[in-house]
Amino acid sequence: MNLILFGPPAAGKGTQAKRLVEQRGMVQLSTGDMLRAAIASGSELGQKVKGVLDRGDLVTDEIVIALIEDRLPEAEAAGGAIFDGFPRTVPQAEALDAMLAKRGQKIDSVLRLKVDEPALIERISKRFAEQGRPDDNPEVFVTRLAAYNAQTAPLLPYYREQGKLTELDGMASVETVAGSIDAALSVVA
Ligand code: AMP
Repeated sequence: MNLILFGPPAAGKGTQAKRLVEQRGMVQLSTGDMLRAAIASGSELGQKVKGVLDRGDLVTDEIVIALIEDRLPEAEAAGGAIFDGFPRTVPQAEALDAMLAKRGQKIDSVLRLKVDEPALIERISKRFAEQGRPDDNPEVFVTRLAAYNAQTAPLLPYYREQGKLTELDGMASVETVAGSIDAALSVVA
């Protein structure tokens, strides 16, 4: 099963993806994690994208599509992928559909975690204080939210039209959200 955890930054996608990895043995494919690892390693890619992440803008579709394509065989072997933070634009979604179709696969479900903006801002200030991730600082976060609203939210109709979108209340506790994810997936699997 291939599933997309969809939502704005700080909606809880990473937290829920990690639980699904533990419980279902699926592979989490987080382009944000991959890009941060590239930056930490000092690779050519890392040097190229560092400024973009620091500003809170999106890196090019080409870069993230290539990162995902590299990891698809591993996810397939594990029985499925949880896409976390990818796709973030319509061209990325189209590329993902095409890459999966080439492998005889598809996206089975898109779970949208709905969280309102004041709650996101509150969560992010807490995460910034605890973890100090540079792009969680309040000014950069405004840019990340704007990128979500302008470039990523338009994916909702794309998946709704495919009949794959389930909307979940991401304001609930981690455990409650986990329960709604399991309920939504039990219908798919
Ligand atoms: P995240 O950890 O998913 O919030 O991603 C952190 C940052 O990495 C984003 O603010 C973007 O700069 C970049 N990024 C991650 N995933 C993507 C993507 N699918 N498309 C473009 N940029 C991305």
